[in-house]
Amino acid sequence: MTARILDGKSLATTLRAEIAADVAALYQQTGIVPGLGVVLVGDNPASRSYVTAKEKACTAAGIHSTERRLPASASREDILAAVHDLNGQEPIDGILVQLPLPDSAIEREVIEAIDPAKDVDGFHPLNIGRMVLGLPAFVPCTPAGVIEILRRADVPLAGAAVVVIGRSQIVGRPLSILLSQKGVDATVTLCHTQTKNLAQLTREADVIIVAAGRPGTLTADMVRADAVVIDVGVNRVPDSSKASGYRLVGDVDFEALAQKIAAITPVPGGVGPMTIAMLLRNTVNAARRRRGEPA
Ligand code: NAP
Repeated sequence: MTARILDGKSLATTLRAEIAADVAALYQQTGIVPGLGVVLVGDNPASRSYVTAKEKACTAAGIHSTERRLPASASREDILAAVHDLNGQEPIDGILVQLPLPDSAIEREVIEAIDPAKDVDGFHPLNIGRMVLGLPAFVPCTPAGVIEILRRADVPLAGAAVVVIGRSQIVGRPLSILLSQKGVDATVTLCHTQTKNLAQLTREADVIIVAAGRPGTLTADMVRADAVVIDVGVNRVPDSSKASGYRLVGDVDFEALAQKIAAITPVPGGVGPMTIAMLLRNTVNAARRRRGEPA
């Protein structure tokens, strides 16, 4: 293996310790304990396990968390009522609606019901608009985690050619905006399923971020030897040797890439843990801003 492994798990542990220290200092100075409210609808096992991981991380950092759990049959009105209830709860600084909802058609309306000052996932149009304008905003956690990995690994971004594969509203598109902002200064190419000559573009890239949701999207023949690859993908593939019957893989051909390139994130243990750390950070920032403290 020649690539440097960018260990998101260990970086997230460091960040979570920093956040816990920040939470303790906030409490000492102001008596504030940041609070996160989570809305979980239905019993999707992946959603359940993400929510459990987020709540555990909150507890470990000294952040109070509370859950509104609704059945898959919950109506649009029930879900909106849960969000409005959390909006009105003074000790709740951040609200997270775990996606996907059983009825994806109402996701946008539910997200727009969140008080933007508590929108720690950064999905509300007000926060997206502020981010695009380069104003202070809650930045979506996965893109923020990707940038933190690159920063802390000292990967140069100013002037770098960065290819982002995937243009979703929660990962690829916000990443392309953040990376091209003044101060980060990357030159970004945002790719999707209609992109022609993807391999030609990735071969010219210094940094490639893959968020396609498809194993094998990036292979070793598509990259230069000095490339840095961030694998956002999380895919369950059948594996009879595991008790669960599956294992998690990313979107890239990790084994072959790790033999060739400069640096790469693993899956699991790369971007995923950073997403949770960024959620904690956004929640603490929400607590500070809402109470008039500098964030
Ligand atoms: P998504 O909404 O399904 O979007 C996937 C994007 O990838 C789309 O823009 C799609 O293009 C593009 N795409 C798919 N196959 C492609 C290909 N072969 N070539 C080029 N573009 C391709 O997915 P998402 O929500 O962004 O998630 C992406 C992956 O990241 C998933 O595996 C998800 O589980 C993972 N994820 C991980 C974290 C974490 O914390 N680690 C957080 C969020 C998501 P079109 O727009 O043309 O369809």
